[in-house]
Amino acid sequence: MMDITFLGTGGAWGVPEINCDCAICREMRAKGERRDRTSILLADNDATLLIDCGPDAREQLRRNKVKKIDAVLISHEHNDHYIGLDELFVYKRVLPNEVFSPIPVYLTHETRLVVEVRFAYLEELGVIKFKEIEPGQWFRQGPFRIFPFKTDHGTFAKGSVGFMVQGTRHSGGNARLLYTSDFAEIPDMPTELVGCDIVIMQSFWLNEPVDNRPKHMSFQNAIGYIKRLKPRGETFLVHMGDADRVPGDPANHMAKKYEPKSPLKPPLEKDPYPIPGNQVQWQNTVDQILRDHDISYAVTVAQDNLTVRI
Ligand SMILES: [Zn+2]
Ligand SMILES: [Zn+2]
Repeated sequence: MMDITFLGTGGAWGVPEINCDCAICREMRAKGERRDRTSILLADNDATLLIDCGPDAREQLRRNKVKKIDAVLISHEHNDHYIGLDELFVYKRVLPNEVFSPIPVYLTHETRLVVEVRFAYLEELGVIKFKEIEPGQWFRQGPFRIFPFKTDHGTFAKGSVGFMVQGTRHSGGNARLLYTSDFAEIPDMPTELVGCDIVIMQSFWLNEPVDNRPKHMSFQNAIGYIKRLKPRGETFLVHMGDADRVPGDPANHMAKKYEPKSPLKPPLEKDPYPIPGNQVQWQNTVDQILRDHDISYAVTVAQDNLTVRI
C-alpha cells in the first residue's frame, strides 16, 4: 500500500528564488506557484519513510499533516537535503519519554562525517540514531527493503547515493521506487535499478549546460537515463530550478544562469523548445519533447504536495 507524497520539488534555494527577477521566477510568481526544497514521504500502511529532510521540513510536515516519521534516508551532505533534521524533535516532544524511540537516519559514512558535525546533539538527546549504509547493500526498515546506490554529484558530495525502495502495492505484490537524488551520473549503474515501477528523477535544468559545474541532472540528459532505467510506470521530475537561460531575458547575466550546450529542439526545426516557467508549461514542454522524439515513457512534472498511490 505504498503512497508517495512529494513534500517539495524545488532546487537548493527553492523557486521562485528570493530577489530573483528572471523570467522563470517572474512567471512562477505571476501564477502563485512555488517549489520548496526536494523531499519525499513514502507511506506503506502505517509505516513512513522520509527521503531527504531540507530547510523546509517544518512547513512540509505541517501542511501534509505527517503524524510520524519511522526513518529518514539522507542522499547527501548538501544543506537542502539534511539541514531540517532538527525539525524531527517535535515527534519526540509530544510523547512520554518512555514511548519514543530514536528515529533511524540512514546515510553513507562520508555523508555522516558532515551531518554529524551539525547534528551529533540530536543523537545524544535520543531524537535520531545515525545508521551507516553501503552503496550496493540492501537493508530493511519496517516493511521497506532499501537498496542504496552510488551517484556522482561531484567532489563536494562524495558520499552521495540514490535509493531504490521496495514496498507493497495497493493491488498486492511488491512495488519498487527509484529516487536518484542530485546527480550527474550513476557510475557502473547496478542492474537492480532497471525496471522499477516509479522513478523520481532530478531535473535541475531543461537543457544540459555547456559546463555542468554543480553536477546536476538536466531533463535533456535524464531522457537517456529514463531509457536505460526502463521504468514500468511513471517517471516524476523533481529538484527543478531557475538556472536555464531564457532567450532575451535581461536576467541572463546572473551567476546561476547556465548557457545550454546544445538545447533540445523539435526535429527539423532550428529553434529550441521554449524554457518552461510555470507548472503547465513544464508539463507541456516535457510531453511535447517525448512526442516529438518518439519516447514512449510517461513523465510527470511533480509539484509540491502531489500524492501518488502505487
Ligand atoms: Zn539538492
Ligand atoms: Zn546537492
